[in-house]
Amino acid sequence: MKKYYFQRYNYFSKFDQGILMDKEGWFSVTPEKIAQHIATRCQTDIIIDAFCGCGGNAIQFALTCRQVIAIDLDPVKLHCARENAKIYGVADRIEFILGDFFKLAPTLKADVIFLSPPWGGPAYMNQEVYNLKSMIPGDGFKIHQIASQITPNIAYFVPRNTNPQQLAQLAGPGKTCEIEQNALNGKVKALTVYYGDLIDVNKLKSIEAEIAEEELVQQIMQY
Ligand code: ADP
Repeated sequence: MKKYYFQRYNYFSKFDQGILMDKEGWFSVTPEKIAQHIATRCQTDIIIDAFCGCGGNAIQFALTCRQVIAIDLDPVKLHCARENAKIYGVADRIEFILGDFFKLAPTLKADVIFLSPPWGGPAYMNQEVYNLKSMIPGDGFKIHQIASQITPNIAYFVPRNTNPQQLAQLAGPGKTCEIEQNALNGKVKALTVYYGDLIDVNKLKSIEAEIAEEELVQQIMQY
C-alpha cells in the first residue's frame, strides 16, 4: 500500500484537492501521464470507458473527447470517479452509469471504446506470459468481442506481459493492431493495444517501408 501512496501524484496530479480512491483503486488506476497519452490517442466525439474504476482514464478522456460514458459495477468506485471528475472540472462531460458492461453493451453507442477490465489483481506479474483469455475474469476475448459489436475502434489496456499473438488475433483475419508499451520513469507499466481507426497509420506505413527496405538490402547482399 505504501508503495502506491508514495506515487500518489503520479496517479492524480490534483491528489491534494481531495481525490477519492478505495483500496482496490490503488492497484487499478492508470498513472495520469499514461492516461493523458491514451486520451490524446483516443480523441473522438463519444467514448465509452467500460470499467472506469476511480476515473483516472475517464477524466482524461473528458479533456480530449466531447462526451464520456463511464461504466462501473461497483457503486463505491463510481462515487469516487464522480467526485474526482468534479475536482478536475470535467464532471459535466461524463455520464456515469452504474452497471455491468456485459449487460449494458447492447444498448450503447459510441465512436471509441476503452477497455481496462480487471486483470485478476497484482498476481498477474507472477506469470511469464499473461493469457488474455483465461486470466482476465470474464474472458479477455469475450470482452473485446462484445466491445467490437459497438465499434471497431477499441483501445485495450492490458498487462505488459500479455501474449502478443492473442492481441493480434483479436484484430481478426488479415487485420492489424498496434501494441504500445506504456512506460513511466523508464519502466514499462502496461500495454495499450489499438484497433480499427485508432491505429496510427503513418507509423505503420513507416515501419512497413523500413521492413521492405531491409528485405531489399538482404536480397542485394545475397545476390
Ligand atoms: P484489477 O484486477 O485490475 O484490480 P478490478 O477488479 O479493480 O481490477 O476491476 C477494474 C474495475 O472494473 C473495477 O472498478 C470493477 O468494479 C470494474 N468491473 C469489474 N467487472 C465489471 C463489469 N462487468 N462491468 C463494469 N465494471 C466492472
